[in-house]
Amino acid sequence: MKLNNSIPVQYFNTAWLPGSIRAAMLRLDLIHPAIQGNKWFKLKHHLALFQQGNYQQLITFGGAYSNHIAATAAACREMGIPTAGIIRGEEPKTWSHTLQEARQAGMQLHFIDRHRYREKMHIDWLEQFPNSYIVPEGGHHPLGAAGCEEILSIEQLDNFSHITCPVGTGTTLAGLINASLPGQYTWGYSALKNAVSLDNDVKSLLKVPSRGNWQIFHGVSQGGYGKTNHELFQFMNDFYTETGIPTDMIYTGKMLMAIRDQAMSGLFPAGSSVLIIHTGGLQGNRSLPGGSLIF
Ligand SMILES: *Cc1c(COP(=O)(O)O)cnc(C)c1O
Repeated sequence: MKLNNSIPVQYFNTAWLPGSIRAAMLRLDLIHPAIQGNKWFKLKHHLALFQQGNYQQLITFGGAYSNHIAATAAACREMGIPTAGIIRGEEPKTWSHTLQEARQAGMQLHFIDRHRYREKMHIDWLEQFPNSYIVPEGGHHPLGAAGCEEILSIEQLDNFSHITCPVGTGTTLAGLINASLPGQYTWGYSALKNAVSLDNDVKSLLKVPSRGNWQIFHGVSQGGYGKTNHELFQFMNDFYTETGIPTDMIYTGKMLMAIRDQAMSGLFPAGSSVLIIHTGGLQGNRSLPGGSLIF
């Protein structure tokens, strides 16, 4: 597997960032063109277990635009692992880029309706896939969190007072909390609407469940998971113009918009130094009509 081993920590300035706060982006989007961001870290221990076992194939689950499906397909191709993706919903007339590329990477795709998808972990149903290694949807699993601890194996982690990341299942956030230094704040930004169970989902993956100094911000999803609006695109375009950093519209773009609002309202004390984790996901932007984003 050819991964970029020198992931940049890129300090940036924008018009909205107060001069008393330093901000840097950990560019996990640059690890690999297809196996981007946090998904590689969530998958790596599963892929290793697959290789140690005697399985026929690796199967996993996701929607038609899923970054997890895209990353799993690409990683399995590079590692020569046969893989199948169980896709939520009827087969669409026009396949998304995600699905087309997953198929090109050799992933076998099975479409199941939303009702059966909810029962997907049902054993009888999974018997169609004998001798398979199963990676749960979204990777909410201690092995996923353990892989995400490695995200913080960067030099001079102790330079930072705050670490931030977007939140889907909370697995990445849990890994970051587990790997953060005492006294560092670890903040997550929910990409979902009203996902109140997330806090407990994260807690269940913590090595020290009583650990404090972490928090999930809710109500920062711009209307819900996958919802977009003109202001979001404008913000992502401006951020790209100012910093050269592309963001995705589901996770990192929304997190940064929330960080902008927090920074402008004084939530970060003067002297804060914020490490923002870019969790990748740029492939998802390709489902947008041309012209929405300038990158
Ligand atoms: C999957 C994903 C997340 C969410 O990660 P969790 O570990 O499920 O919270 C965040 N950002 C991007 C770009 C993703 O693709």
